[in-house]
Amino acid sequence: MMNSKAKPAGSDGENKGDAVCAICDNGGNLTCCDGGCKRSFHLDESEGSACRLALGLTKDEAKRIMDTEEGFVCKNCEYKQHQCFACGLLGSSDLSSSKPEVFQCEHGDCGRFYHPKCVANLLYPDGEEEATLFEHQVAAGLEFPCPMHECCVCREGENKEDEEMQFAVCRRCPTTYHRKCLPEEILFRTKKGPNGAMCRAWDDVLPDRILIYCMKHDIVRKLKTASRDHIVFPDAEKLTTKVPDAEKLTTKVPDAEKLTVKVPDAEKLTKVSGTSVSPRFAASNTNQCFCSGHMDSFAPKSLFMHPQPGSCGWISDED
Ligand SMILES: [Zn+2]
Ligand SMILES: [Zn+2]
Ligand SMILES: [Zn+2]
Ligand SMILES: [Zn+2]
Ligand SMILES: [Zn+2]
Ligand SMILES: [Zn+2]
Repeated sequence: MMNSKAKPAGSDGENKGDAVCAICDNGGNLTCCDGGCKRSFHLDESEGSACRLALGLTKDEAKRIMDTEEGFVCKNCEYKQHQCFACGLLGSSDLSSSKPEVFQCEHGDCGRFYHPKCVANLLYPDGEEEATLFEHQVAAGLEFPCPMHECCVCREGENKEDEEMQFAVCRRCPTTYHRKCLPEEILFRTKKGPNGAMCRAWDDVLPDRILIYCMKHDIVRKLKTASRDHIVFPDAEKLTTKVPDAEKLTTKVPDAEKLTVKVPDAEKLTKVSGTSVSPRFAASNTNQCFCSGHMDSFAPKSLFMHPQPGSCGWISDED
C-alpha cells in the first residue's frame, strides 16, 4: 500500500506489507515480514513494547533487525506454520512437505491462510457437495480468492474509486462489507449512554479501506479494539529443540492419538491465560484452556505451549 510505512529498506518496494500492525492494529513505524505473510509489526517502541515482546524479540534484536538491511521474517513464516484466518488454528503451510494444512489466498496483497475445509465452508455455505469438491481442490493446490474479496452482503467486489464501494474489512475474521452495505451497528463513533456501543469502524487507518471489527467480536473497552490474543506464533523452542527438522514436525503430528500424548501442561496454561479477555472468535479454539479435551484440532497441541500474546499482562501496556 502506498502510504504504508512498512520498512522499505532491502525490500525493493515489492514487499507491500499491511498498513497496520498485525498484533495491535495500529499504524506507525512498521516492519514488514519478508517471509510472505504480508503482515507488518511494531519492532520499535512507538506503540509500547507489547508488539515486540509478542514477537519474542529483545530490544537489541529488534534494533539490529531495524538497523540492518537483512530484513525480518516472522516466526510463522520462519517455521512455515500459519494460522487459518477462519478458525485461528496453526497449520503447516509448507507446500514442500507431504501434508500442508493451510493454503494462502491467491490475492497478491492478501496473505491470509486457510484450511481447505474452512475456506470451502465459507465460500459454499449452502452447497455441501460443492464445498467438499472445492475443499479437495484447494488441498490439491487449486489457487483461490478468499472470502475477503467480496462483500458478504451483496457479493460484489471492491472499487476503491467509488467511496460507497470501498471495502470495510474485519481485522479478526474473513468478513468484508462495502461501505454502503455496512450494518448500522458497526459504528464509526462510540455511542455513550445506556444504549451505548463501542466504535467498531475507522475510516482513516487503511488506505481506501475501512478497518472494522465485525459484530462477531467483543470490543475490549480498555483497548478500544477487539482482544489482541488473536496471533499465535509457533513455539520456536519446541520446534528447534525437540524436533530439529521443522518438516518432520508437520508430517508427524496430524493424528489425534499422538496429540493426546503430547498435550503440554494444561493446568499451567489455564492459570497463565486466566487473565485473558474471553475471546469469542478463534481463540476459543486455539486457547487450550477453553477446550482442553477437544481433539478436533489439526494443529499440534505442542504449538500452544505458550499463552497467547495478550494474555499475560501486555494488554495493560496501553490504555
Ligand atoms: Zn503493534
Ligand atoms: Zn511472516
Ligand atoms: Zn481453519
Ligand atoms: Zn484473500
Ligand atoms: Zn456490498
Ligand atoms: Zn470479524
